Amino acid sequence: MKFVDSHTHLELFALKSIPIERAKSKEELIQMLGSTNVRPLVVWGWNEESIGDNITKDDLNRFPFPLLLIRIDGHMGVVNDKVIKSFNIIRSDKFDPDLGHVYEEELWNIASILKPKERKEHLLRAQDEAISKGIVEVHDFVDTRTAEAFFKLREGGELKISVVLMPYYDDYKNVLKLFDRYGDDEYLKFGWIKIFVDGSIGARTAYLSGNYTDKASRGILLKAEKELVELIGELERRGLKTALHAIGDAAIEVALNALEKANVKLKGHRIEHAEMINDNQATRVREMGISLCIQPNFNPVFMETYVKALGQERAGTINPLKMLDEKKVNIIFGSDMMPFDPEVGLNYASKILGGEKALYYYGGWRDKLDTRMPPQ
Ligand SMILES: [Zn+2]
Repeated sequence: MKFVDSHTHLELFALKSIPIERAKSKEELIQMLGSTNVRPLVVWGWNEESIGDNITKDDLNRFPFPLLLIRIDGHMGVVNDKVIKSFNIIRSDKFDPDLGHVYEEELWNIASILKPKERKEHLLRAQDEAISKGIVEVHDFVDTRTAEAFFKLREGGELKISVVLMPYYDDYKNVLKLFDRYGDDEYLKFGWIKIFVDGSIGARTAYLSGNYTDKASRGILLKAEKELVELIGELERRGLKTALHAIGDAAIEVALNALEKANVKLKGHRIEHAEMINDNQATRVREMGISLCIQPNFNPVFMETYVKALGQERAGTINPLKMLDEKKVNIIFGSDMMPFDPEVGLNYASKILGGEKALYYYGGWRDKLDTRMPPQ
């Protein structure tokens, strides 16, 4: 197999020092947290579905050091009082002080300061994992520090897979400078620039047209349309393309409106996830020459969460592979590391689209040289 995983976060391997995703209960998870000497401790991979319970700061206050637990989707975290005090976090739609839950920008800010600074060793571990899964290329979301680590690996001849660097908006100028200095080649290429329009369904921060089933909220719009138009315009003027993270139907609408109003000329701007995309939006995506990066592994992995958060009806229309394929929307597949294994999404997509097409969307088109037309 030669897969292209078009949506990865390899730096998360640095936050996998404890396999908390394997914990079957809250007690087991807490016990695992006590088994390491890493300080401060930032761990990624927890999911309230798998442990059958929620986690709050009260569970984490028994540990006398700064502790951040990041939910598997990277859009929500739990912190203990040590973190709350040292960061001086105040109540907002991105911080619930009673539960110690942090969301989106509040979470990223804390994580960026507390997470380990060393990257190289973790990226190499991630690369080994990729190779063992048949992945030949990843599109990896990076900050400047992770981008630098990739350049160092290439310099040392240690990079064995192709990496398309997808910088976060705040980092793209620095990452461009790295390419100016060191150049691109088959191992390292500059990709699309990531801008968050909303959060995730699991964290109830994806931006919906109606309320969540289990929360009196429509989620959070992280970038207003007007601001997005300006950012997309700025990037287009430099010949650069965006990867807009948009999951909720209302966020997808904002993303499409912004791309339209920015009057984009470049083909192949991306929308990441587009989980709640509807028929009409899919038509607009095709007409504007936008690509969708879809996670075919999400339905088999997260359906329970979808039903809880959205109800049966909305959950039933999520990640509509068949509709997108029938409309001939340009789609590519990426795992988003949940899990970091194309087989999971490939199995699901094969049931919906047939094996040949599923493989094509997961990068099989690379074997057919320059033809990017899906099999009929
Ligand atoms: Zn992601």
